[in-house]
Amino acid sequence: MQADTLVVRENGEHRSTAPHVLPIYATSSFVFEDISQGIEIFKNIESGHVYSRYANPTVDAVADKIAQLESFGSDHIPYAVMTSSGMAAISTLLMGVLKSGDKVLTQGDLYGGTTELLKSVLGNFGVETIFTDLKDLAGTELLLRTEENIRMVYCETPSNPTLACYDIASIAALSHQYGALCAVDNTFATPMLQKPLLVGADFVIHSTTKYLNGHGNSIAGVVVGFDRDLMRGGVWKAMKLAGTNCSPFEAWLTSNGMKTLALRMERHCSNAMKIAAFLSEHPAVERVNYPGLPIHPDHELAKKQMSGGFGGMLSFELKSGMEGALKCMDSLKLCTQAPTLGDVDTLILHPASSSHLAVPRETRIENGITDGLIRVSVGIENPDDLIADLDQAIRK
Ligand SMILES: *Cc1c(COP(=O)(O)O)cnc(C)c1O
Repeated sequence: MQADTLVVRENGEHRSTAPHVLPIYATSSFVFEDISQGIEIFKNIESGHVYSRYANPTVDAVADKIAQLESFGSDHIPYAVMTSSGMAAISTLLMGVLKSGDKVLTQGDLYGGTTELLKSVLGNFGVETIFTDLKDLAGTELLLRTEENIRMVYCETPSNPTLACYDIASIAALSHQYGALCAVDNTFATPMLQKPLLVGADFVIHSTTKYLNGHGNSIAGVVVGFDRDLMRGGVWKAMKLAGTNCSPFEAWLTSNGMKTLALRMERHCSNAMKIAAFLSEHPAVERVNYPGLPIHPDHELAKKQMSGGFGGMLSFELKSGMEGALKCMDSLKLCTQAPTLGDVDTLILHPASSSHLAVPRETRIENGITDGLIRVSVGIENPDDLIADLDQAIRK
């Protein structure tokens, strides 16, 4: 072999013992030992490793851990498909299980991207979306009973930015009664606090970009479900063919971040509870939205369907309205202004001037997103430092 051939050749794995930490399999394809192994793998393409768009060992390891978390304590076999983002998880799920003529029933206060996807992308493919108040179970049932072809009820709880909670068990039961599937976006709660599949949901989706990674350095998503045919035949196939697969590097970052998920969620929850209590006593604060506070309208439901805490997200309304909120945002020194959530450090957002800028003011206010509302993704810093920072900024 000449040197110019040698440089081109793969030179073997060079390892004698197993790595302690998950390696990144940065390879587009996998090698067949011989033709008969190739045929076997192609026959059963979903299990062998062939091509990294179909499956990749790094990505599979992370998907499997999330699947185990979402089904923890049950004897169901969970299936998970990781995707290139949270939006990819949602679009892959919808593409994988819906067809033209099907309808989706959902709530008005979804993640903005999800609403837009349903309205302006899926709408073009003949999938119609009906927005309703999923808290109104009688109204939800009426729609399921009278509207034809509702194939999916899609729910997000707690929701953004007012932390409204929806009753997953009741919504899943109603969906099944009328032949629909139920999907839940569990990004805000994480499987440490809420496991929708165990109370009847058919699918859970996550933006792992948020709490599961927790360090703000990757974008990825996941779909989890118990129905093998829907997961392998529907969701996996849509991922593979639409090319919404997760990159092994993003999966690897998620894997590292997830190791501290339990610890982080404990601290996110206890910090958020302390801050919510502080804010609710503050004379300049009109209202605090946190499901852990007894005054939150969905506190009883949150207590029933969440365990271990009420999450790290809260929002509060300043009496001083738009002007006061903008001043407060710019006066905060420890809290960072950023349009994401679930990171280890505290992030703040003013919905009226950012995420909900395009929503007409009246609609926005009707939905509780007032001019003075500030959303906080409470981090894992020392809570006294956070409270001191919020206090000095609110006083300005
Ligand atoms: C961020 C987010 C998404 C979208 O996830 P990406 O990873 O940004 O694509 C979906 N749902 C919720 C609740 C989110 O917070």
